[in-house]
Amino acid sequence: MNYESKLSCVARGIKSSIIRELLKVANDPGMISFGGGVPDPDTFPRHKMAEIAKDIIENEYKFVLQYGTTEGDQELMQGYIDLLKKYENIDWLNYDNMVITVGSQQALYLIGITLLDEESYCAVSRPIYLGAASAFVQRNPHFINVPLLKDGIDLDYLENELEKLKKEGNIDKFKFTYVVSNFHNPAGVSMGLEKRKKLVELAKKYDFLIIEDDPYGALRFEGEKVDTIYSLAPDRTILLNTFSKVLSPGLRLGVVIGPKEIVRRVTMVKQAADLATPSLTQRLAAKFINENDLMEEIKPTIKLYREKKDSMMKAMKKHLGDIKGIDWTYPEGGLFTWVTLPKEFDTMEMFEIAKKEKVLYIPGVAFYVDEPDKNTMRISFCLPTHEEIDEGMKRLRNSINKYAEQ
Ligand code: PMP
Repeated sequence: MNYESKLSCVARGIKSSIIRELLKVANDPGMISFGGGVPDPDTFPRHKMAEIAKDIIENEYKFVLQYGTTEGDQELMQGYIDLLKKYENIDWLNYDNMVITVGSQQALYLIGITLLDEESYCAVSRPIYLGAASAFVQRNPHFINVPLLKDGIDLDYLENELEKLKKEGNIDKFKFTYVVSNFHNPAGVSMGLEKRKKLVELAKKYDFLIIEDDPYGALRFEGEKVDTIYSLAPDRTILLNTFSKVLSPGLRLGVVIGPKEIVRRVTMVKQAADLATPSLTQRLAAKFINENDLMEEIKPTIKLYREKKDSMMKAMKKHLGDIKGIDWTYPEGGLFTWVTLPKEFDTMEMFEIAKKEKVLYIPGVAFYVDEPDKNTMRISFCLPTHEEIDEGMKRLRNSINKYAEQ
C-alpha cells in the first residue's frame, strides 16, 4: 500500500526532531553531552512523591483513577493560584483563567490551533524554542522572525515589521508575539523589565496577544527577579508555566493562564485532543505543592545549576576565550548558554568532528524557522559533572581547531 498517499499535508511535511536524531549518540561510552536540556533526575523529590502517590491511589482512587474535567484538577489549580499570589503578586486569578495541560508543549500546540490560521502572522524570536517552532509550523502561518538580543527580542525590529504589515493592510491578521521571558531556550538570555513594558505598549498599539512561555523563571541563580509580562498586561498575555523544571517533567503538567475568553477556547480545543490531563499526576503535584514549599524545595536544584553554570562559564573562558570573533551568552538562570562562532563555521558540519572527539552540543540550525545562523550552538550545563564540563570544553576546542584546519 502507498501509505504516503494517505497522509495529510501536515504529516507529510513533518520532520523528525534534529535534536532527537543527534542525541542518539549521547549514551555512547565516554561521550560528554552538552546537548540534552533535561533536568538532573537526582533533583526529583522521588521519596516524597512515592509516598503521596501510594496514598492518593489508595485513598483518592475515585478521583485519581477516574476521568477528570478538561479544565483540570481544582486542587492543583488552587495550589497554583496560591503560588502565583505568593511569588508573583498575581492575586486576581480564578479557575476560569486557567487550564491544566499535558506540559507546556501541549499548551503551545493548543495555542497554535486556537489562534493561528494559514493566513495568520505571528512574531517569534530567532533563535526560537524548537518545540514552539514545531507546534506553530503545523498551522503554517507567516512568521515574523525577530532577532534575539542579549536582553530579549529586538523590539525596534518588531515594530518596523508591524508597521509594514499595517501598510500592507495585514495587521488584523497579526495574532501574537511569542517570547520566552526568562533564561531563553536555547539562548539563555532574559528580557528586562523596561523591555517587557515596551512590548506591552506595542501589543496595545498594534492590538496583539503576547504568549509568555516561562518554564525556567523559578530557576534563577542570580540577578533581580523581574515581573512577568502577564502581570503587566493580564488582558492580553497568555502565560505558560510548567512543573517540568521545578518538580518533574515526567508528570507532564503545564498550565495556561490568561483571559478567560481565550482560556475557554483553548480548553475546548484540548477537549478534542485528549479529554483531560491525567488525574493522577495532577493530584500528585497538587498534594506536593500543598504539603511543601516548592520554592524551598528547589533551592538545592538552583544551587546545583548555579555551580554548574559557574563551571561552564569558567571552562568556556579557559578553552574558548582566545578565539577571535566568538561570543556566548551569560545565563542568570535556566539550563543553557548560546555560542556564536565566527561566520565561517558551520556547527552542523562540525558536529561529526565533535562526535569523534566525544563531545556533543546542539547545532543552532535546530532553532530557526527561517534561514538559520549556521555558526551557532546550544550548550547545556545541567547534566555533566564539573570535571566533564571542563573536559568537554577542551574537546570542543579541539573540534573547533580541527574544523578550522580542514
Ligand atoms: N517551552 C520551553 C521554552 C521549553 O524549554 C520547554 C521544555 N524544554 C517547554 C516549553 C516544554 O516543556 P514541558 O512540555 O515539559 O512543560
